Formats: sequence, C-alpha cells, structure tokens
Amino acid sequence: MNATEPIKDLADVSWASDLIVERLSASGDTTGIPYYHYRWKKKWLADYVAWPQTSEEVAALQTYATKHGIPIIPRGGGTCYYGSASPTRGGIVIDTKRMDKIIEVNKNELWVHVQAGAVWEILDNQLAKQGFNLPVAPQSRVASTLAGWLAIGGKAGIGTPKYGSMIDNVVEMEVVRPDGTIETISGDEMSVFFGTSGITGVVISMKQKIIPTPESTEGLMFSFQNLEKALDALTRLSKTKIQPIYLRVTDLEYEWRIQGGLPPDTTGLFFVVVTYRGTAEDVAESLKTARGIFEVASGIEMLQSYYLKNWEDRDIVEMKLKLEVPTLSMQNFWIPLSHIEPLVRKMYKIASSYKINSCFYLVLGSAAMARFCVFAPSDHRHWMHFMSGKAMLHRLVKMMYRQGGELYTLGLQNTVYIKKYQSEDYKRFKDLRKKWDPKGIMNPDKLTNCIMSYTRMNLMFTMNGTFRRLQVTLRRGKNILPIPVAYQEGHV
Ligand SMILES: Cc1cc2nc3c(=O)[nH]c(=O)nc-3n(C[C@H](O)[C@H](O)[C@H](O)COP(=O)(O)OP(=O)(O)OC[C@H]3O[C@@H](n4cnc5c(N)ncnc54)[C@H](O)[C@@H]3O)c2cc1C
Repeated sequence: MNATEPIKDLADVSWASDLIVERLSASGDTTGIPYYHYRWKKKWLADYVAWPQTSEEVAALQTYATKHGIPIIPRGGGTCYYGSASPTRGGIVIDTKRMDKIIEVNKNELWVHVQAGAVWEILDNQLAKQGFNLPVAPQSRVASTLAGWLAIGGKAGIGTPKYGSMIDNVVEMEVVRPDGTIETISGDEMSVFFGTSGITGVVISMKQKIIPTPESTEGLMFSFQNLEKALDALTRLSKTKIQPIYLRVTDLEYEWRIQGGLPPDTTGLFFVVVTYRGTAEDVAESLKTARGIFEVASGIEMLQSYYLKNWEDRDIVEMKLKLEVPTLSMQNFWIPLSHIEPLVRKMYKIASSYKINSCFYLVLGSAAMARFCVFAPSDHRHWMHFMSGKAMLHRLVKMMYRQGGELYTLGLQNTVYIKKYQSEDYKRFKDLRKKWDPKGIMNPDKLTNCIMSYTRMNLMFTMNGTFRRLQVTLRRGKNILPIPVAYQEGHV
C-alpha cells in the first residue's frame, strides 16, 4: 500500500517544523560527537523535524523524500552514541516519539502490540497496571524507544541474560520501506531491521513479548580484588540454570565517580551487581548459588543497602558518569566474558603511560557475551589529554578485534572500523542499502560510508600517542581529573 495523500511541500505539513530550536534538539546525541565531527561541514543539522503519528504519515514523508532525494533520519530518544540518529547531510529527522500508542495487550499469547516510538519505561509502567512487564529493556529505558533499541541490535541490557536479546522478543512488526511501501513482517523477514540503524526503513509498530509481573526481584553486590577471578565466576554464573535479569561489572574509578565515593571499608577494585527475578523460591535459590560462586572467587559481599542503591540507579548509571566529568569519550565492545581481562589490563597500561583517566563497565547480554564499555573521562579544553583518551580507545579497538570481539554500537562514527575489520558485515550493509534504498536517502553515511579513512585515523592516533608519551616523559602530562586513592598508590 502506498500513501494516498502525497506531501507537496513540507511547509504545509502541520506536524513538521523548520524552527532552529527543533532542528538543533533533534540533531545531536548523548555524546555531542555529531557536533564535534560535523560542525566544519555544516551538514550535521536537520533541515526539518517531523512528528508523524501513523504509518500513512511516515509513508507520505518517505515518498516525498525519495522523489526529491532528501535524507531521512529516523529517531527515537536520541540516546544512542556514535551519531546513529543524527543527520550528516541535513534532511528530515523523523522523531518517532509521538508514535507511542498501545494498540492491544494480548494476555493469552503474551505480547503487546505497540507503536515503535513508545518509551520503554512508560510502556512498562502501563503494562504493570495490568499485571504484566516487559522482559527486556536497555538501561536507557527512561528515555529510549522500542525501535531505537531494535535498530542498534539490542543485545545487552536489563533482562537479556534470561530472556534473550531484542530479536528474541519481537513477534511481528509493521514497517515503512524507503519507497513508502507499508508492510507487516515477521520471522526472518524482520532480520534486516535489527542492528541496521534504520537504513532499511522505519519501524512503525511491533508485537513485543510480555511476561506476567514476577513475584520477586532481589539481588546482591560483591567486590573483588582480582578481575580474572571475578570474570571466571561470572562465566560460571552465566552457565547456571536460572539466569539473572541483570549483571553489571564496574571498576573502582567508575564506581567511585558515579557514587561520589565508596563505603569507607571497601577494599575491592571491581564490583559486581546481580539481580534475579522470578518466583520467590527461584530467586532465593539463585542468590544462594551466586553467593557460593562469588565467595569461592574470593569476592566480598557488600551491604544490601549499597546493592539497592546501585539497582535503583540502573537506568541512569551510564549517564551519571557523563554528568561527573566535563567530556566523555567511550567505546563499547561485544565480546565474550572470557576475553575481557587482557583488554582491561591493556586499558590500564595505556592509561598509565599516557597519564589519562580511564574506567570501564560491562553488562551481560546472553550466553556469556557482554557489552563492555570503556570510557576515557577528560576535558576537551585539555586537548592532548582528550585526544589521548581517544587514541587509547582506538588501540583497544584494534586489540579487541584481535581477541575475537566486535563493536557493539556501529552508528556513524564506527563505520570506519566495520569496513576495516568486519568486512562481511560491511558488505551486507552495502547490499541491504542497494536493495532497499538505492537512492541512499535512509540515514545516509550510517554503516555504509566512511567520512575518514582508517589509515588517516590510525596515523593521527599513533602520532597522538607518541606525543603524549613524550609529554609524560618530560613531566608535562598529567591526569587532569582526580583518581581514586588505590590508583594513586599503584594498586591497579
Ligand atoms: C544512560 C544510557 C544507558 C544505555 N544503556 C544501554 C543498554 O543497556 N544496552 C544497550 O544496548 N544500549 C544502551 N544505551 C545506548 C542506547 O540508549 C540504546 O541503544 C537505545 O536503545 C537507543 O534508543 P533510542 O530510542 O534513543 O534510539 P536513537 O538513539 O534515537 O536511534 C538509534 C538508532 O535507531 C534508529 N531508529 C530509531 N527509531 C527508528 C525507527 N522507528 N525505525 C528505524 N530505525 C529507527 C536511528 O536512526 C538510529 O540509527 C544506553 C545509552 C544511555 C545514554
């Protein structure tokens, strides 16, 4: 079916705007990277923002954009990093947040049919009133949308160790293809929308799995001195019969920053938060198992009040770090738990030789795979410190690929790595674009085009690292942000 009422001029559309304030707020993302990357090209700003509410309105926009060769950028909460939902060649940002209606809650087949711009937390609260919950959600659920997580792949978040990733939780979806065709698809047909950053079309609504509200939700928190032992314990835990709904690991600097300090008697360097959800009996049994595994790995249980604080903070924990530091660069990897330890060692080694700040946190996906996020807290006014943080992340990406991992979020900024290291994925994205979007209007540059060459970037970061080491040797480089005492004393 094609849109019946074609758009003749966007200025006539009551649900679109070219006000500069709307264009600005729909063009950035949580990292501020689009502005940083694109300001000199002056194409990072949307020309229009549209707020459609139906598939017909989206189809009319798509048809109009295809006819005039105007870029379309689908956008949910804009919480994704790497410029994924930001324009790179101007165009129309489709803000999907007004597409948030619940169409049906099917209590027998256990799914909710809902528009794809629904915000996770709001939807979950609405379902809770009827005795149901969403089994999975990203930790950005207070602001991000269903389709936003689907489009980045949605593999690690709350619920994923137990209920699988986004692809395991969507039964059916309605989509608008780039040429304006509206279709309902299911099964394998849906795969072209998972992890493809909206380059194959706009997701309008979906049937998302739900669960009856579980009887019990409880957890615990442990600290560890030794990362290898902690990760071994987690790998063992990930093989137990009942999986947690949430498993997070942080290091000392991360925990210290987001909590504004640590309990006075804390001796650990790494921190594990685990939460189980299910029947009271299953949860009690699982906690007993987890305790046993962690104690064998020399973990020390932390106060329950501290666990509860961390669990309550789960939705803001990633943003909290950004609030604590002037400028935050980060990279996130999709990697087996068993491959993480060497990367962490390398991170500390590089950070120490560059005298920069660094920390990590990880969240378990499923089957012992984790979303491992490395951060380089900095202040861009201290240019060498800031760029050295980015150089460290670049070196870790190279090492991560040698370890058999992949980048978790691809978006715009990481396309250069996909082209270099994930050539099969890069070819698949190119083929998808050719098939579904031959005019290249859907979210241009994302996944299929590199703005900068890998060689140039590699050279830039190598030179940066060399200069920074020289600076440190000449005693002119230092960490510009405070670091925890254990780091100052060289325990890490
Ligand atoms: C505090 C915080 C916590 C986070 N926690 C997690 C986490 O636990 N797990 C995780 O995986 N990520 C996490 N992230 C990253 C990010 O929030 C998620 O990936 C999130 O799901 C993105 O959703 P969004 O609605 O904000 O999408 P956006 O950022 O708006 O868009 C993401 C991508 O989806 C595309 N898109 C959006 N809507 C549609 C649509 N209707 N149809 C087609 N394509 C569309 C966009 O073009 C873009 O490429 C976190 C980020 C923050 C800031």
